[in-house]
Amino acid sequence: MKQQQAQGVVVVGASIAGCATAILYARRGIPVTVVDKRRSADFHKPICTHYIQPCSLPAWQELGIYDALADAGAVRNTIAIYTRWGWIPNAALGEAHATNLRRQTLDPLLRATMLATPGVTYIDGHSLRETVRNAAGTVVGARFETSSGETRELPCALLVGADGRESTLAEIAAVPTREWPNQRFSCFAFYRGIRNEARDVSKMWMLDPYIAYQFPNDDDTTLIALMPTKDRVEDFKADRERHFRAIVDALPSGPDLNGAERISEFMINTKNTMLLRERAPAGVALVGDALMTTDPLHGFGISWAALSASELVAQTAPALLAGRSTEREVAAYERARRNEVWPHFKIMAEMARAEPMPRAQQLLFSAATRDDAMAGIVQRFLAGTTGTRELLSPGTFARALSVTARHWMGRNRAPATATAET
Ligand SMILES: Cc1cc2nc3c(=O)[nH]c(=O)nc-3n(C[C@H](O)[C@H](O)[C@H](O)COP(=O)(O)OP(=O)(O)OC[C@H]3O[C@@H](n4cnc5c(N)ncnc54)[C@H](O)[C@@H]3O)c2cc1C
Repeated sequence: MKQQQAQGVVVVGASIAGCATAILYARRGIPVTVVDKRRSADFHKPICTHYIQPCSLPAWQELGIYDALADAGAVRNTIAIYTRWGWIPNAALGEAHATNLRRQTLDPLLRATMLATPGVTYIDGHSLRETVRNAAGTVVGARFETSSGETRELPCALLVGADGRESTLAEIAAVPTREWPNQRFSCFAFYRGIRNEARDVSKMWMLDPYIAYQFPNDDDTTLIALMPTKDRVEDFKADRERHFRAIVDALPSGPDLNGAERISEFMINTKNTMLLRERAPAGVALVGDALMTTDPLHGFGISWAALSASELVAQTAPALLAGRSTEREVAAYERARRNEVWPHFKIMAEMARAEPMPRAQQLLFSAATRDDAMAGIVQRFLAGTTGTRELLSPGTFARALSVTARHWMGRNRAPATATAET
């Protein structure tokens, strides 16, 4: 067994959360070794629709790649949302905006930034197998299986699990996991050459219970994604194109795929329960999907991966630099992350049941199709920039009721269509 000199932090996983964590620790002068089971530096996660929420802009700015994303062709956009009452227009979000960038572009870009950061060592082709604990039970290292079948041990002051929803680290460190069911699955494909497409507007159709998306992406590509209910999985598996097109072609103001070129296979994903892990043992912290896996429907995984990395590093870096235990700081980080997103996470878990929209949500969303201020409130919530505070405030409900009352008295503006139609 090969032994390695003690390192500051070992990060398992070199995707969004792992690369972001490594960059931020290294910039604070903490040496980081990042280990991934994949055997190259330019791999990407293929099963992702990569809509990046406005709430994560500060994280990309902190990582120093906000401009690089645009240079790589990232499409800055806002989103128009179709509901059974009409369109919730793509409200201006101030400086904030969503970002569409394919994972095949984003992942290598972020990893190259990590590799160029002094203080980061990258080891590929190694799979996490075991943790190493001291007499007090604190995790002080990890053992990996190399691609040639050897065992390699890496000691560390903190072992960070950025190894995704199936987190091996969470499993072997026995981190308690809560799971919520998801009644929808995903099927998506990439196209080029969709006629009359507004390249700076994404679209979402809330068909209650199906969901559909149109995301203009880098390199003139567009991702069309569907999230039907799971009773349709076998239909889709039997004939992906037929069932996909039947739904897309019927979308109100949907993309015209006749004449567009499909440039990918139809990808299906059914493994999409929501997960939350808490109380990592001493010496361990989780980030990204390993900590919290959301329903892909909401497009928050990438954003929360980058934000969780930023928050973990901010909490623990001072203790690591002082050579102290990080146990208290990791617990504070877990608590803060949970408190910050729990109300939103709960709404996602409720929506993942694919049941008819609750009355309160009907009130808010229908009002958002009839009133610009309400559209802004719903859009800010969906963008993750205001949490649930603004959406669920008494003032918002009062406004929604008044908009609805005025609507029934015939005094509202016509429902929005313009932005969604362009
Ligand atoms: C269908 C679908 C659509 C989605 N759409 C969106 C979207 O539109 N917007 C959005 O923000 N999010 C979306 N997501 C979620 C997003 O893909 C994830 O949240 C995001 O990739 C999480 O990043 P991560 O770094 O935490 O984990 P991952 O990207 O899963 O990376 C984990 C890394 O750990 C490595 N690893 C795993 N096990 C080991 C091991 N034992 N040893 C060593 N290395 C290991 C893996 O090789 C991988 O590189 C979607 C997800 C799905 C399934």
